[in-house]
Amino acid sequence: MRPYKLSSILFVILLITFDAAYFFAGASVWWVVILFVVYIHSLVLGAIYIQWNFYIKSFNKSTNQGLIALTFDDGPGTETAAILDILKAQSVPATFFSIGKNVAAHPELVKRWYDEGHTIGNHSFNHGFNFDWQSSKAMARELQETNDAIKRITGKSPVLFRPPYGVTNPNLARAVKKTGMYSIGWNVRSFDTTAKDPKQLLDRILNRLQGGDIILLHDSMPITREILTELIVRARQKGFTFARVDQMFDIEAYA
Ligand SMILES: [Zn+2]
Repeated sequence: MRPYKLSSILFVILLITFDAAYFFAGASVWWVVILFVVYIHSLVLGAIYIQWNFYIKSFNKSTNQGLIALTFDDGPGTETAAILDILKAQSVPATFFSIGKNVAAHPELVKRWYDEGHTIGNHSFNHGFNFDWQSSKAMARELQETNDAIKRITGKSPVLFRPPYGVTNPNLARAVKKTGMYSIGWNVRSFDTTAKDPKQLLDRILNRLQGGDIILLHDSMPITREILTELIVRARQKGFTFARVDQMFDIEAYA
């Protein structure tokens, strides 16, 4: 049972208990208030932290201590071609979670992803701020549209899905189930979209790197391209081998 269901059941049981205590035993009404605050807080944090597996089970970290995975979100973007060049030069396989509308705009980069041995995942069609407020039907439609766009170019329909912003909720869980996809999270957030100093960014990733880690990066950021070669070289010096997410968890990347 997902933590979401468990905490909801617990909430209802405690609510009835505290209400009864308030009406029949003169207990403080504050117990009910505190219960609401804690419950709503858990719903919000569960939505933000994909690693909690609160609404849906995601693949966030592998138990394979020798492997690490580079994942790039939001492309194909301005840095995708240069990042592909670096990955090729270093013989590193990676996973790209692409936005459907960008796929349609850059089919040549999608083809390169596929031809050069990387895995292509789905990261919604529009990646809009309202993504998580949509019905599960509308979300599933976005996932399907993106899969269709990728299939038109590669002949393959992705099964790996990374929720935009890493936010999950009950509708998203339903959409992922409906489309038969896997939710893929991460456990090392690089913050490359807001980083200013390449050295700081590099240190933040490398200092906490452990086997089984999934690193969240973006192929839309120049700073990510800037640090990539050194990141690969130094991670290898630490003894890690790079793998795609599907290899890491031994799952099929395409339907
Ligand atoms: Zn994104």
